[in-house]
Amino acid sequence: MENRFGSQYASIEDAGFVPKYEAACFCGTVRYEVSNDPLDAKICHCLACQKLHGAPMQWAAIFHKRHVRLTAGLKHLIFFNSEQNRPERILPCKVRCGRCGTPIADEGRRMWLAFPELFNFGHRTKVPDSFKPTCHIFYDMRILEIMDDLPKWSGHKNHSNLL
Ligand SMILES: [Zn+2]
Ligand SMILES: [Zn+2]
Repeated sequence: MENRFGSQYASIEDAGFVPKYEAACFCGTVRYEVSNDPLDAKICHCLACQKLHGAPMQWAAIFHKRHVRLTAGLKHLIFFNSEQNRPERILPCKVRCGRCGTPIADEGRRMWLAFPELFNFGHRTKVPDSFKPTCHIFYDMRILEIMDDLPKWSGHKNHSNLL
């Protein structure tokens, strides 16, 4: 079974892992589960996210890797490290499905930044509160203005200026 993505992740043999939500890429080749709610969720406006997602911003929900279990498509994952501009799994890096190109997650050294669009919440409009963004980050680089009440950080949360 292709369950060994890295020892930091939950595996199929992990009896204590109870899936809470499941996620899949567009073509369904890459699938994974999480056992917990995210620790936080943010919207990133940095240029790398804009270009690599082909989108004005990126919404990420943050999990510990131990709460993530990849269940299918491991050999189809492709990686890109934007800092070094290298298509390799050098953490932190972007993870995609190599078949349909869906961005799967930003893989950090300890954390998994999941994209809520991939999750099956049962109904598209029923996003659990724990997945809802709490702030905007790298808002200095925004390409679109967002009219909401969430805090807007110029760079990283708690390590930059509030705009
Ligand atoms: Zn796919
Ligand atoms: Zn970003």
